[in-house]
Amino acid sequence: MEDNNQALLDKIMSLKKSRNAIILVHNYQLGEVQDIGDFVGDSLELSQQAAKTRADVIVFCGVHFMAETASILCPDKTVLLPEMHAGCPMANMITAPRLREKKKEYPGAAVVCYVNTPAAVKAESDICCTSANAVKIVQLFPREQEIIFVPDKYLGSYAARQAGREMILWPGYCPTHARIQAQDIIRLRKEYPNAKVVAHPECRTEVTDIADAVLSTGGIIRYARESGVKEIIVGTEIGILHRLKKENPDKKFIPVTEQAVCPRMKLTTLESVLWSLENMTHKVKVSENIRARAWAAVDKMLKASI
Ligand code: SF4
Repeated sequence: MEDNNQALLDKIMSLKKSRNAIILVHNYQLGEVQDIGDFVGDSLELSQQAAKTRADVIVFCGVHFMAETASILCPDKTVLLPEMHAGCPMANMITAPRLREKKKEYPGAAVVCYVNTPAAVKAESDICCTSANAVKIVQLFPREQEIIFVPDKYLGSYAARQAGREMILWPGYCPTHARIQAQDIIRLRKEYPNAKVVAHPECRTEVTDIADAVLSTGGIIRYARESGVKEIIVGTEIGILHRLKKENPDKKFIPVTEQAVCPRMKLTTLESVLWSLENMTHKVKVSENIRARAWAAVDKMLKASI
């Protein structure tokens, strides 16, 4: 079995070289996929890597909107999504026509759009944000400026509270993070009195309200590395535990719930990465009329995040 795995890994590495490919992997991917990544990170970090790579091919081990974002930033590169059905349910809770209708309702409003959206929605937006920089992006706007925040109502509500302002929130949410419940955190705190609780801002408001730190997955990785805390209760998709444990073998990580699994993130396997590189599938390409407008929104975010 181990020999088979090694043979698979050898093939992936050899094809990666011959295709001049880079493998970008989100923190929620299976551990075996994270282990072959040239870079593993959150949406913001992965966009930054895509924007600066010199590779000809980007294999994006994540979900569809992430590969689209890479295509928006690197139109001359081939972007591959190993699993064609790896979509994000939250991203599918909004469409460009529906956003256009909302904009008509609030004609003066600016649109801040979480990266978890289709490219066509980004093209209708003034600026993008990720969970790592949502508060900072919202704060770029003058207080009197009306803002429509799409599509995650929980991230939007968190950013609004942190920025001390109101926003018009789209009613989208992440079904995986919605499984993370405050009562589980309260129970685990009793069991691990010395632990700190970190939660992703896609979690419900009652969860982010009681967490010790609300962070993107990249932020959670840094918190675990730098905080000196030995026990951490983790409120996000459990794929992140692979990296947390690997990088911090002397610390204990307790998931709020084992149910916080994103099925779409788990579709990608070593086999699918190999097939993707062998057959150059599935190519993700954003059409130029949408790309140029979406690029402006993503680029504004990247410049504001430096
Ligand atoms: S964890 Fe939630 S937001 Fe992230 S890809 Fe899965 S469904 Fe989408």
